Amino acid sequence: MNIIMLGAPGAGKGTQAAVLCEKLNIPTISTGNIIREALKNGTEMGLKAKSFMDAGQLVPDEVVIGIVRDRLQEDDCKNGYILDGFPRTIPQAEALDEMGADINCVIDIEVADEVIVNRLSGRRVCENCGRPYHIESLKPKKDGVCDDCNGALVQRKDDQIDTIKNRLDIYHKETEPLVKYYEKQGKLVVVEGKDTVAATTEAVFSAIGV
Ligand code: AMP
Repeated sequence: MNIIMLGAPGAGKGTQAAVLCEKLNIPTISTGNIIREALKNGTEMGLKAKSFMDAGQLVPDEVVIGIVRDRLQEDDCKNGYILDGFPRTIPQAEALDEMGADINCVIDIEVADEVIVNRLSGRRVCENCGRPYHIESLKPKKDGVCDDCNGALVQRKDDQIDTIKNRLDIYHKETEPLVKYYEKQGKLVVVEGKDTVAATTEAVFSAIGV
């Protein structure tokens, strides 16, 4: 099954993608994680993306489209994949269609902006594996340490309040039109994402019949 996770930054796409990835045994492709990894490794692409990312702006379409095009050709995508954070603009969605990606389902996780601001400003992520936590609602077993890999939990630069507002504006302007785009293709499933992670997971599973 080829799945797209859609929704505002902080709607819970990454968390739900991780659960789905385990359940369906298919990889998650997170453009944000790929870019952060490139940045950590100091690659040319990472350096190019840094200023956009730090400011909460979108990295240019041709860069992310290239990343996804290459990644989808890898062997582990043959039995399906979950796209997390891509596409984020209409040209990206069109490029994905042109690549021949046979998307079965687009899961749109809906959460109000106020909830998002609270979530993102309290979010911490593992600097090693990227797993997300929250200072109030999703604490690790041991303070400041990732349950999975013992990596340190840090606040992303783009999870600071002004940047969050900027990312939400960009989401409404650039990414929200994808809801209509995929609705027209008959692939859209809307899931309420304001409650607990477990409640959202249940809604996601029932929406795709697993
Ligand atoms: P995320 O981890 O998905 O919130 O992505 C973090 C940042 O990476 C975004 O704010 C953008 O700067 C960049 N990014 C990730 N995915 C995309 C995309 N599909 N298009 C443009 N920029 C992206």
